[in-house]
Amino acid sequence: MTGKEVSLLMDELHRIHRQIGDINHRAKRLKQTLLGLTAELESAKASVKEKNDDKQKLLLDVKEKEREAALGAQNLQRRQEQLNMAKSDREYQTIKLQIELESKKSDSLADAALVALSAVDKADEEIKSSEKAVESAQEKLRSFKSKLAEETPVLKADMERTTGRLRNAESRLPHEFAGLYSGCVKRFGGQESLAPIVDEVYCGSCNIQVPLDDVLKIQSGSPFCCFSCGRLLFMPPQRSNE
Ligand SMILES: [Zn+2]
Repeated sequence: MTGKEVSLLMDELHRIHRQIGDINHRAKRLKQTLLGLTAELESAKASVKEKNDDKQKLLLDVKEKEREAALGAQNLQRRQEQLNMAKSDREYQTIKLQIELESKKSDSLADAALVALSAVDKADEEIKSSEKAVESAQEKLRSFKSKLAEETPVLKADMERTTGRLRNAESRLPHEFAGLYSGCVKRFGGQESLAPIVDEVYCGSCNIQVPLDDVLKIQSGSPFCCFSCGRLLFMPPQRSNE
């Protein structure tokens, strides 16, 4: 194989590995989006449950406040009866004073019961808006899943086709490259296994200057790994054409 042929083949392998990397990246992004949307739905559901629990506590509070207010009203009525049966002016004045105090207390208990009721109304609104968030999260997840169902076979086909091209290109790799190539793929992963020589002297992966002797050997089609980062180096075709 001439230097130019090696250069073309290595460049092809480099591009195919990048395409495989892109496909993997697309698949990973889809998976992450799915996880994110699922988590969003779960959290929206948890929020509805939490708000319903809060509402139950508020309802108990309303009951308690209403009971207190009813008791207050009963007390007030009893005092009123005592007032009517007062035997002396002094007793009458004392009861009247108690009635004034208890009337204020009864009013504030009734107010507290109303405040507690309005807290329940507010909780109802919050529950409604949380339920809407659940619906919207469900809708987002549903529509993403249908997009996923369309894209998954496309990705799978892309991957099969690209992997096929990779196997084909690898099968054309000269014998003396095979060991270094598969070692680099194993060590760095496909996408990072090969490094083009940039500006005719620098390793495209770690940017170190490659010794001129090595560059010349690479140009003539010999396998060489970068002495610094270990990537299998190749001369990009446009350079070797010069
Ligand atoms: Zn390097």
